Amino acid sequence: NEKPYGTVEFKNLIPNVKFPILIGSGKGGVGKSTVSSNLAIAMAKLGHKVGLLDADFYGPSIAMMFGIKEEPVVNEKEKLVPFEKFGVKVMSLGFLLEEDTPVIWRGPLLMKALTQFLEDVEWGELDYLLIDLPPGTGDIQLSLAQNVKVKGAIAVTTPQDVALLDVKKAVTMFEKLNIPVMGVIENMSYFICHNCGTKHFIFSGNEMDTGDKLGLPVLGRIPIDSAIREGGDKGLPIVVGYPESPVTKEFLETAKII
Ligand code: ADP
Repeated sequence: NEKPYGTVEFKNLIPNVKFPILIGSGKGGVGKSTVSSNLAIAMAKLGHKVGLLDADFYGPSIAMMFGIKEEPVVNEKEKLVPFEKFGVKVMSLGFLLEEDTPVIWRGPLLMKALTQFLEDVEWGELDYLLIDLPPGTGDIQLSLAQNVKVKGAIAVTTPQDVALLDVKKAVTMFEKLNIPVMGVIENMSYFICHNCGTKHFIFSGNEMDTGDKLGLPVLGRIPIDSAIREGGDKGLPIVVGYPESPVTKEFLETAKII
């Protein structure tokens, strides 16, 4: 009978998941889904039981990044069975949406769909469930805080002043909901020139400390690399496609400290 969120009754819709973690960003396109996918696989490589839920209604892309094309099946208990790929159990709200259909649902409908969806998936026992949120702040975050015993949230951002302003708002929202923010993953941190080996700071101009600016620990710095984009597009995330690459090592380091 816990009521950590004021008068709203707290329900734990996914009791078999030890540590649900929210992955949020201030704005879209910073690489939240790319980071969530590779991080989930890296965590599975470390031996954890990991699930990944794509709750980004507005741009569900996890299925594509995992190369999953089939519709999920429903088992005898009338629950949706997540796909298992690269050691991760994957489920996406996108499976419920027709391709090319713009999402015009309003907040309350989205919340209802999400809570229903959480209950309807047969996750089994999991150590971690990464939940890829829609960008920004909104009802989904609130709804999750009321229905899931969240371990914490991770913010993904590019090291760019405008992105930082937005991600700060998302961080403030998590804090208001009593969700501890575990840290920030800086994506597209830098670019290493294949010809001269120089590190170029494309978004920030120079090396900048996103963590200092946000007052949060930096859990990882992922470079901008065409192999990351290609891996996402062809359904073979870099952590799987190039297991020995420095990018994969960075994801594994990040996975270890979460
Ligand atoms: P979001 O989930 O924040 O909207 P995505 O993960 O869908 O962003 O990424 C947007 C695009 O940028 C994708 O095409 C993805 O492959 C590409 N991308 C993301 N991170 C990187 C990176 N570090 N290097 C190169 N391309 C990246």
